[in-house]
Amino acid sequence: MPAITRRTLLGSALGAAALTGAATHNAPGAAAVERPSIIGTATWGAEPAREPITMVGPPRTIVVHHTASANVSDVSQQAAYDIARQIQQWHFARGWADTGQHFTVSRGGFVLEGRHRTLEGLDGGQRQFPLGAHSLSQNRTALGIENQGTYTSTLPPAAQWQSLVRLCAFLCQTYALAPSAIQGHRTFDSTDCPGDAFFAELPRLRTDVAALLGGGGGTTQRPWPVLRPGATGFRVTCAQRLLRQAGHEAPTGGVFDDPTTAAVKAFQSSRSLDPDGVVGRLTWEAPLALTRRNGDRGEGVRAVQTALTARGASVTVDGIFGSVTQAAVERFQDAQGLTVDGVVGLDTWSRLLA
Ligand SMILES: [Zn+2]
Repeated sequence: MPAITRRTLLGSALGAAALTGAATHNAPGAAAVERPSIIGTATWGAEPAREPITMVGPPRTIVVHHTASANVSDVSQQAAYDIARQIQQWHFARGWADTGQHFTVSRGGFVLEGRHRTLEGLDGGQRQFPLGAHSLSQNRTALGIENQGTYTSTLPPAAQWQSLVRLCAFLCQTYALAPSAIQGHRTFDSTDCPGDAFFAELPRLRTDVAALLGGGGGTTQRPWPVLRPGATGFRVTCAQRLLRQAGHEAPTGGVFDDPTTAAVKAFQSSRSLDPDGVVGRLTWEAPLALTRRNGDRGEGVRAVQTALTARGASVTVDGIFGSVTQAAVERFQDAQGLTVDGVVGLDTWSRLLA
């Protein structure tokens, strides 16, 4: 971590996370990444948080840190518990409500819950996470992972690296993030974290995560369309609806005009992508094409329904993902040889738009 991080003030109105108990879902299209074993706060002996912990989400980014503590040779589970407790005390001493980051990966490869309620968010099926205190600029939008050690000139041990890869892959799957969402702390804040040596290896981390997710080393075979200014048609309408879903102003007329280009660039900037105004694979998977499933509502669902209609399905473009839309998605998946689950993840999105 170390960077001056502003104490997060908690808005109580957001605190009552609406958890439905829905099962954790799998990532779009990829073979499911198994949930890694994560040691909860109660198990490692955390003190209670000193203020209520607010849930936010979904995250856009995973921020990788190092603890800048000693590169200890004790790689036991006990040592993992010890560093987790130490970090909580360091963060209390800064006046924070609780451990700042969401996860801690020990030098021995143990993965621990950091901030309270992180596992609740991870397993709750709503893509929520506790508002953290690990990055001055990204707390509201980023999951934070502290890696025990100092990696300015050496790299994390193999066990730690492998645990980090598995954790990141599972987070990408659960929160519908692309491996490109994995970033080093220094990208956002004035800090050396996570150290020069570790930071230089982040491309490999993304590649390893992509491989676990079934992305084949960071590239995928998904047949995304490439949309440029001037393009017209239902694919543009879908992109426009997805931009609106992401909070950007865009028309929905199916014409890739100047306001649409501006919205694309704003979306790309918000995802740390090159703001070139062209919607290609990286932008679709940033993800502009968020997973949509039964029960969802809004512009993203309208985009699904627009694409289904263009594919000949008989659905109403009403922004409500109900049984009729789900059945149409399942028929489309079946016809395309995709996994038939009625959920529109990246694989189904890319085929709908291809
Ligand atoms: Zn950091």
